Amino acid sequence: MQIQKRDVTIRPWLYTVKSQTGGVVSVYFLDTDLEGNNPEDREITSSLYGGDERYRLKQEIVLGIGGVRILDALGLGVHKYHMNEGHSSLLALELLKKNGMDIDKVRSLCVFTTHTPIEAGHDKFSYDVVREVLGEPVPLDMLKKMGGEERLNMTLLALNLSNYLNGVAKRHRDSARAMFPGYEIHAITNGIHSYTWTCESFRNLYDKYFPGWANEPDLLVRADGILDEDVWRAHMDGKKVLIDYVNKATNVGMNYDTLTLGFARRATGYKRADLLFSDIEKLKRTNGKGRIQLILSGKAHPRDDSGRKLIEQIFGYMQKLEGEIKIVYLANYDMDLAAKLVSGVDVWLNTPLRPLEASGTSGMKAAHNGVINFSVLDGWWVEGWIEGVTGWAIGPRPNENVSVEECRRKELDDLYNKLENIIVPMFYSRRDEWIKMMKGSIGKIAYYFNSHRVVQRYVIEAYL
Ligand SMILES: *Cc1c(COP(=O)(O)O)cnc(C)c1O
Repeated sequence: MQIQKRDVTIRPWLYTVKSQTGGVVSVYFLDTDLEGNNPEDREITSSLYGGDERYRLKQEIVLGIGGVRILDALGLGVHKYHMNEGHSSLLALELLKKNGMDIDKVRSLCVFTTHTPIEAGHDKFSYDVVREVLGEPVPLDMLKKMGGEERLNMTLLALNLSNYLNGVAKRHRDSARAMFPGYEIHAITNGIHSYTWTCESFRNLYDKYFPGWANEPDLLVRADGILDEDVWRAHMDGKKVLIDYVNKATNVGMNYDTLTLGFARRATGYKRADLLFSDIEKLKRTNGKGRIQLILSGKAHPRDDSGRKLIEQIFGYMQKLEGEIKIVYLANYDMDLAAKLVSGVDVWLNTPLRPLEASGTSGMKAAHNGVINFSVLDGWWVEGWIEGVTGWAIGPRPNENVSVEECRRKELDDLYNKLENIIVPMFYSRRDEWIKMMKGSIGKIAYYFNSHRVVQRYVIEAYL
């Protein structure tokens, strides 16, 4: 294919994902690092978030236009193209060319899911760069009608060339509708792969009570029937794995029986890993009522300075609390570590700045392991939350219209008051109520917020 008027050859690599329960999915990775390609073009697929606007556009040409051609060359007979975020939306231009510029036909082939609730998160390219790098696969005036007059907005392009549009949680759908008025945007709330994110002890527990649960996670709806001691034993097994890992990696000496709060996210501003440390004195007071220990993790994007500063700040707070509250910040946050964290703590904390968390998924992972969510009402949690039954809310209700200052005040009030007066006392003095909430998390969250339900809904509502 041609990029910047040069021929570029693309090679696909096949990666076969095999599910523990028998499924197989083929993933094709596109690569331009081939002999015969111009040295500059060999670099197009070498760095995920590197480079400038021009570099990014070249990557999206490889993904969108190259992707369609590779699928054709492999003879895969695609019936639907599902664009996740605008990065792949140039594929719709390739489909227009293939289908004689028939917009209705292309729309019938395309599904688009937006994942970003803020304007700045959507890719946009100047038409000068577009013309230079991409050429004119469809006439420019037609492209501007679909992708925006000023700049090529990849989200707009996808919205205009798909006949099914959705956001990744109901609240996110509402933000997306406000951002793109006039489009019928649906909601299919995210879910996570139940088997992958359930730790060994809970897998064994579910095998015993709900045979077949991994392929039919709806069965977890019956979690109330699990014996308390079985839930607690499975939890303590998962907790031991994490605490042993922490005590090997650090010298803080964490305990198995102490109430343990977890927080792990990409270290970026809006996720607010530092919110818990807003009032050090209140945190100390809570710890006086009943011991707490904190396990945090998260990597900053190499180009996100604010993310790196956030981590530095947290290390500052950790120093201030040294000798009082055991806190660790674990390095190398990846899926393996995430799996240990979401199954090894007692409470999973989530404090994003509303409405910036489109969905969020780590809290769903926690719920699969009987870990209780304590979260700002944003993204998926608006749908998963029942106060005191599936977890606890931090801050204003979803439909409460409050100023930024009022919102923060309410968040801090809930954060410290609920921790001190509800969460700590229940953990230490009313274990039966605690276990009931663990079962509430499994039976009212995990049974629903899983990828089996998500895929079924995509098939029925978007693909068929
Ligand atoms: C689940 C997961 C995430 C996403 O978690 P959020 O709650 O959506 O922020 C990010 N990184 C890793 C390694 C994960 O496992």
